[in-house]
Amino acid sequence: MKSLYIKNGKDINEQPLELLLEDGKIVDVAPQLDVTADEIINLQGHSYVSAGWIDDHVHCYEKMSLYYDDPDLVGYCNGVTTVIDAGSTGADNIGDFHHLVQSKKTNVYAMINISKTGILAQDELGDMDRLQFNTLQQAINDYPHFIIGLKARISKSVIVGNGIKPLIVAKEFQKQLSQKLPLMVHVGTNPPELSEIMDVMDAGDIMTHCFNGKDNGILNADGSIKDFVQKGLDKGIIFDVGHGTESFNFKTAEVAFKNNLYPQSLSTDIYHGNRENGPVYNLATCIEKMLYLGFELQQILPMITTVPATNYHLSHKGKLAIGMDADVTIFNIENYSKTLVDSDGNTRQSTKTVEPIYSIVGGNAYLIGE
Ligand SMILES: [Zn+2]
Repeated sequence: MKSLYIKNGKDINEQPLELLLEDGKIVDVAPQLDVTADEIINLQGHSYVSAGWIDDHVHCYEKMSLYYDDPDLVGYCNGVTTVIDAGSTGADNIGDFHHLVQSKKTNVYAMINISKTGILAQDELGDMDRLQFNTLQQAINDYPHFIIGLKARISKSVIVGNGIKPLIVAKEFQKQLSQKLPLMVHVGTNPPELSEIMDVMDAGDIMTHCFNGKDNGILNADGSIKDFVQKGLDKGIIFDVGHGTESFNFKTAEVAFKNNLYPQSLSTDIYHGNRENGPVYNLATCIEKMLYLGFELQQILPMITTVPATNYHLSHKGKLAIGMDADVTIFNIENYSKTLVDSDGNTRQSTKTVEPIYSIVGGNAYLIGE
């Protein structure tokens, strides 16, 4: 049994915080602990200690040719202890994906694409024959601890001529499945219209790319919020950022923030392309953008810890409490100026940087950058 003592840390309210981790679990949490351990990390009062960050929209099945990455490069190397792949794979290939991630240090989960092919090509929902209930149910039965949600990409290039039909089928599948799984819906260019999509979605379903700058987004051409958007939020649809190469626009986010229309979860939609070349880079950069918009750290951290843990039923993650998994992110916030770029090339000048320094996954500590 290996133990790790995290000493002289602070929580996001600037209060002292110490942790004792043992055998993959959190065994003690307090402002100050008087313990010994096999390993001690002394943070000298400078660094924040948070529940391990969860990124609920990534693409990390390495054998894909469009959107792929190494789970560890988007995960623990960037302060993210748990990644949830958002539909890269379907029933045809999710078994191989599961096999590949067994050797990774980062916790990896998957939302299964409602198309059995996954995102082999951009148009996975262009052929309704790829939506098969029995193969979907079988895959979920085969990997019940790995598959924690469903994914449907409902935008023009994905659905081709099928309109809203794939989403209606996805909702039918979701209701018929023997396990209760949340459905993440990607929104983008129409058809279908965003209003049609939100009509079909239910409470607990997750709408990713919520702050995109496209015509079929949440804003009218005059910059006001479309009138059905608040109705969707009131119904219980969860707004997820899903930054991505094309799906985060500062103006959309600024208007939403001014109108008290907030996302519940923050995610990257990262893959090797937008990780290496931007505008995503990593989850920390997405946090910097939320800080720039005016969100407090106390509002942002739940978006990458407790909220995704609740949405995807990861009941042992998302909190620093006795008995929870020993997943911890340790990070600094520094007063450096930095230019932030959104998915449409707009820039904003930020005065704060977010720098993860340790990822601790299941009690194993990794110093970031080494
Ligand atoms: Zn995506």
